[in-house]
Amino acid sequence: MDTYAVGFSRPDRRSTGGDAELQYPWHAVEAHRAPAELDGEIELAVCGAIVQVWGSQRWARVGAGRTACPECARLTAVSRSLSSAR
Ligand SMILES: [Zn+2]
Repeated sequence: MDTYAVGFSRPDRRSTGGDAELQYPWHAVEAHRAPAELDGEIELAVCGAIVQVWGSQRWARVGAGRTACPECARLTAVSRSLSSAR
């Protein structure tokens, strides 16, 4: 079961700005509903960033990538859940 949806940090919605957000646009969003249902909604990522949910993406995959927010990856311990993923 997916606990996290994937959020995309849009440049026009950046609150603070900075290179980090341009380098790591993908964030984890705590999914209180199915990620597909949250698609397109503006949510708060676990690291505190305002992001738009990308319901078709899976955090378990995106979070392990190089463009994922390091803070979100750390907070969700995605690398650990990945190793146990089937
Ligand atoms: Zn983040």
